[in-house]
Amino acid sequence: MKLSTPLDQIKGVGEKTWLQLQAAGLLTIGDLVEFLPRAYEDYTKVSKITELTPGNVVVRGRISAVASRYVRRGLHVTTAVLSDESGKVPLTWFNQPYRAKHLAGNSEWLVAGEFTFSQRRYQILNPSTRSSEEVIETGGSIMPIYRQVAGLKTAQLRKIIEEIRPVITMLPEVLPEKLVKHVNMLSYADAVLALHFPENSADVETGKQRIGFQELIELLYAAELNRADNAALESYAISFDLDAVKQFVAQLPFRLTNDQRRAAWDIIQNFESGVPMNRLLQGDVGSGKTVVAGLSALVAARAGFQSAIMAPTELLARQHAETLSAMLEPFSVSVGLLVGSLKKKPKDELKQQIASGAVAVTVGTHALIQESVNFHKLGFVVIDEQHRFGVAQRQKLMTKSAKMPHLLAMTATPIPRSLQLTVYGELEVSLLQEKPSGRKPILTKIVSPVSRTTLLGSVDREIEHGRQVYVVCPLIEELEGRGKKEEGRGDNAFNSELASVTAEYERLKKTVLKHRRIGLLHGKMPADDKDRVMKQFASHELDVLVSTTVIEVGVDVPNATVMIIEGAERFGLAQLHQLRGRVGRSEHQSYCYLVTTESKQTTSLRLRELEHSNDGFYLAEKDLEMRGPGEIYGRVQHGQLDLQVASLADTRSIVAVKDAIAWAKENGIDLLQYEGMRGRVERYRRLTTLN
Ligand code: ADP
Ligand code: MG
Repeated sequence: MKLSTPLDQIKGVGEKTWLQLQAAGLLTIGDLVEFLPRAYEDYTKVSKITELTPGNVVVRGRISAVASRYVRRGLHVTTAVLSDESGKVPLTWFNQPYRAKHLAGNSEWLVAGEFTFSQRRYQILNPSTRSSEEVIETGGSIMPIYRQVAGLKTAQLRKIIEEIRPVITMLPEVLPEKLVKHVNMLSYADAVLALHFPENSADVETGKQRIGFQELIELLYAAELNRADNAALESYAISFDLDAVKQFVAQLPFRLTNDQRRAAWDIIQNFESGVPMNRLLQGDVGSGKTVVAGLSALVAARAGFQSAIMAPTELLARQHAETLSAMLEPFSVSVGLLVGSLKKKPKDELKQQIASGAVAVTVGTHALIQESVNFHKLGFVVIDEQHRFGVAQRQKLMTKSAKMPHLLAMTATPIPRSLQLTVYGELEVSLLQEKPSGRKPILTKIVSPVSRTTLLGSVDREIEHGRQVYVVCPLIEELEGRGKKEEGRGDNAFNSELASVTAEYERLKKTVLKHRRIGLLHGKMPADDKDRVMKQFASHELDVLVSTTVIEVGVDVPNATVMIIEGAERFGLAQLHQLRGRVGRSEHQSYCYLVTTESKQTTSLRLRELEHSNDGFYLAEKDLEMRGPGEIYGRVQHGQLDLQVASLADTRSIVAVKDAIAWAKENGIDLLQYEGMRGRVERYRRLTTLN
């Protein structure tokens, strides 16, 4: 038996099981070795029924009243009652018709599962059941639970893993032994053994510690290697024209914040060094990132280099082009806008100007990365809202330069510190924490649908005072939502309440706001129409803009002070914060109303967090806790990171691993001395690099 041995050679794996294993991606012994349990049932911690608290529980007792029935196609329910000397608790299984037969007889059972409030009562949902004898027989007081392999019962899977135990015992070390000794952790073999065959919960802990440590080392070391490689690359040395910068700063309609100055200064220093800049400019919504990019582009242009600024939406690209031309044209720096909707002729002309170097700053969308776009001397690349782009897209833009250009990635979705240290460990970071002066925190309120009339009354008063209002709805047409929801819920009350832009637009025209100028904006409108509506709103020819999330990123209309988000519970935390960031961009008090579809008591934790905090960094950490990094980093999927044990939210462990890497370096220990490690580190390097 070797790690590469196919699983069909294992005793007990018949043709059918082999197919099921293959379908789950488990082909070799090695795959199964790394298929670590997702949870454990700890039979040493048995609770009395009357003392249960919500969460994972284990109860010992007798099972009665087993009933099994088909409710409808696709839904089979088995129910039973579990009793111990203290009381009774209902058990429910969904789609496990074999349960009933299994539970016949009058033995004592150990029942493990989630104790939760569901269908108006507390019960244990989909528990596993093992007879007391079975638990005693296998000697296990703590049982590993594996991710479901369709068609395969947990017990079968455990048997197969038991068969490969000898291989696990002999697993070679993947980290340098000296390091393992230094951090005082289990060997790789012992850790994997502890996780597959624990004798107690302490085994699980020490096993997890070691595997988590290893996972983080792979990720962090990949980032470190990327950083070193990047530093060895050559970029252009862009010299800096102090007078131009002074003039630029002097003619701005506002004073730069200290953070903006510091960020610009960091960038200028990177420019001069000739080592490619790899910098993330992190600033909450409204913190003023655009002007920092503008100033940097001016420095580049003065030294004879072109800049490219890529934004995720056409709306945003247009707005940037306008802001930047206003900022830069007084300095004879020409700004071009390259977007998909441009007609062929002007597009071709612009491309020519880009290729000849006549345009110094090109703002655009994905259109910038097309084959046909060539630069004369591209020295500086800005990616706005960088989390919206994938690695490949960023790389494509970077390759449009003869040398590695300087990169400034900007984001308002803050990268939690833990991710900064790991996935984005190769970046230098500039922070805009200080808000431009005179800004007041946005007042945020959760509003139930019944209070909508009152809400519109106060909104009307804001308009009376000369302010403007956004109303954001989750979907374009009511029908879209209807189709989707109906499958899952068959609940029409919900659908009819689902806010849609057009319906909302029509509805508002029949409320107290009927005498106000209301505009409509959604993603399916032709680009010209979008542009026209946006301009009307920006120039205050409209009081209210009813929109889909096309305005989510970047849109900047400082006079708008009210953001109403319909169906707020349907959005993620980061997205809600982004949307809210469209207001609070001036000295006027701003408001954000989160209108829920359902009644107040079901309002999610998410909305409460938003009500309490205006701090994007705090909210990003919360989001990471609640949803995991994949949701925040759409493109670098959590799944791709393959972390089975380590948590990217665990800053403490991350710092410890950094120390361990530094220790290895000081002591001349090669972290990649073993092959398995090399491959995984290489993979992470490709996955997480910014350029
Ligand atoms: P974001 O960081 O969200 O991209 P923007 O760059 O769009 O923010 O800036 C938000 C608004 O703040 C803009 O209207 C901009 O002109 C303004 N602004 C930027 N810096 C300052 C400052 N130092 N003082 C006052 N207003 C500023
Ligand atoms: Mg912006």
